[in-house]
Amino acid sequence: MAKLKIALYWAASCGGCEIAQLQIGDKILKLAEVADIVFWPVAIDAKYKDVEAMPEKSIDVCLFNGGIRNSEQEHLAKMLREKSKVMIAYGACASEGGIPGLANLFNRELIFQRVYLETPSTDNKDKVFPQPKYKVPEGELNIPEFYDTVRTLAQTVDVDYTIPGCPPEARTTWLALEALIEGKLPPKGTVITHNAKAVCDDCPRKRDVKKVKKFYRTFEIIPEPEICLLEQGLLCAGIATRGGCEAPCPQANMPCTGCYGPVDGVIDQGAHFLSGVSSVIDSNDPTEIDKIIAGIHDPVGIFYRYSLADSLLRRARIK
Ligand code: SF4
Ligand code: SF4
Repeated sequence: MAKLKIALYWAASCGGCEIAQLQIGDKILKLAEVADIVFWPVAIDAKYKDVEAMPEKSIDVCLFNGGIRNSEQEHLAKMLREKSKVMIAYGACASEGGIPGLANLFNRELIFQRVYLETPSTDNKDKVFPQPKYKVPEGELNIPEFYDTVRTLAQTVDVDYTIPGCPPEARTTWLALEALIEGKLPPKGTVITHNAKAVCDDCPRKRDVKKVKKFYRTFEIIPEPEICLLEQGLLCAGIATRGGCEAPCPQANMPCTGCYGPVDGVIDQGAHFLSGVSSVIDSNDPTEIDKIIAGIHDPVGIFYRYSLADSLLRRARIK
């Protein structure tokens, strides 16, 4: 039987997904028996022109991590879609925009202003900004165009499956790869995890009194080891987040930050999380409620940490 052909690509992301793919450990040997990696810029010397020369749908599966921040990433997403039978959004950035998607609170001008002029370590007296095209004696230099808005992979090309996580747990990656190897991929559109219910379903902490008078940041309290973190005033996104990760964060005293994305049927993970948090606030007095809510530091970063680009609003409106 011919070996499967796999492509991996890294767009607007931190690189953690590339490491997560290696975390399948010795299962990589099983993968190597049945599959060849034909494109993986971070690890093998395959050029864009090699992919361009491939016939349409000649790659069996592309694991694409990262959102679409610039014109090069958009070009690669479209090219890999054309060449791949199956396109998988791998990780939170590809599927929801992820942490880079929080830059949708700003636009290109504001980001460049901060990065190329205002940061304390920057010395840019001539106010030079990146130019997509620049003439030099040898010809014209081109760099990718930086877009105003980070988009998800599915907002750019047709996506067949999603593997969630920031980064995906090794067991989730292997679940998808095993299904691919055995020819048992689920129906198109499936988010591949071990548990489509919420992280709370995997979490051993006890839930009982849903009454919160104050929210805390993680460094402000040492939580009780067995009680639900949300019920102790820590903003745990487990109530609004797809399970399958086995809840490692709440088990290590850290609130879930929501990296496995929304549970099935939810369009806007942040709105779902907000609604869950509102239901635990223990007050009917508007002034007290305002005070409790004012204690939530960085609300966009809490409620839309990974999903701003995929939310109903998608980005901030900049006047
Ligand atoms: S809200 Fe967080 S700590 Fe509470 S049960 Fe759910 S995952 Fe566990
Ligand atoms: S507990 Fe939450 S933040 Fe931690 S891995 Fe699971 S989904 Fe991601």
